[in-house]
Amino acid sequence: MIITFPHLGSMYVFCKAIAESAGIPYVLPPATSDRTREIGEFHTNESVCLPLKMILGNFIEALEAGADTIVMVGSGPPCRLGLYDRTIKIILDDLGYKYRWLTIPGIFNFQAFLQNHAETKELKKELSPLNIAKFPGAIMIGWRKMRWCEHLERLAATKRAVASSPRLVDLAYSRGMEAIDAAKSLFDIARAGKQAVAELEAINETGITPLKVMIVGEVYTVMEPTINLGIERRLGYAGVATHRSSYFSTHIRRGSRLDRKILKERNELIKLADPYFKYDVGAECNFSVAETIKAARDGYDGVVHVYPFSCMPETNAATVLATVASEHKIPVLSFALDRKDMGLRIDTQIEAFVDIMKMKKDGVTCV
Ligand code: SF4
Repeated sequence: MIITFPHLGSMYVFCKAIAESAGIPYVLPPATSDRTREIGEFHTNESVCLPLKMILGNFIEALEAGADTIVMVGSGPPCRLGLYDRTIKIILDDLGYKYRWLTIPGIFNFQAFLQNHAETKELKKELSPLNIAKFPGAIMIGWRKMRWCEHLERLAATKRAVASSPRLVDLAYSRGMEAIDAAKSLFDIARAGKQAVAELEAINETGITPLKVMIVGEVYTVMEPTINLGIERRLGYAGVATHRSSYFSTHIRRGSRLDRKILKERNELIKLADPYFKYDVGAECNFSVAETIKAARDGYDGVVHVYPFSCMPETNAATVLATVASEHKIPVLSFALDRKDMGLRIDTQIEAFVDIMKMKKDGVTCV
């Protein structure tokens, strides 16, 4: 058994750490690239949402590199993510790939337990007692690494906006991520994480109070810089500190339903979006709207909404956000992303958006 998993922000550090620490052979798909996108686009049609194309590309590149067992996160309706496993399996079967499939359920209920049991029955036979004994410790190592990586992501997202040289932030951030990824014990992980934080904090600052923006939208687009074309970094370079609630650990905590605090927050957000949506539209749609309202109440200067072109739930959110922006008096910039050559257009729109936020902050009225 040689497992593989898709790329999604820093999630690979978590998956890789579990496989390594439990002694399970794995193949890390090559970093998502233009080739990944081209493979995914070639084997799907244009109406398929971008994350599916990229994930398919990741899997084909990993299978070509020797993987034979695909681990994929699952979801339920109405979002199309709930159909990703079936769609991807049909495409891979048509292409003649031989592989096994394991779905990590989006929600841990009884049905998910049964599916997991069926999928892992054969796989478990290939694991040694030592692999199984090491598994709880491996999850702990993976979890600690992921939490440190996300801490660095948060720190870099605010530090770029105030650093004299945002480029130094990128360098310190990359070094820190590599060190955390390479660490082998809980002690080493904490040491690598603390050192990276110290490096980031030591970077000189301009002293200017930055604009503060909340990034909302479709999970994959928010978390994966190759899809959002580095929107967090671009905003940081334009002097905007960014925040987001979407991190891989957040979704695990939500999916496990064990974290009462996070579930309470989610319920409160659902209520915030209630005047605009009377039912769950799917995926993050209601939350994109709710987080925009919350951002306005919490004094954010603006909201950036990102989603893949043709994403059903977020296209609904984008329409509603136009009304939310005017009713709650907060500038909202939406990006429907699909093409890889949108970088210049994004920079131009960010520049104009920054001007609008500054004018609003200075009390200048646009006519
Ligand atoms: S949320 Fe949108 S992009 Fe993501 S899987 Fe669902 S339909 Fe596709």
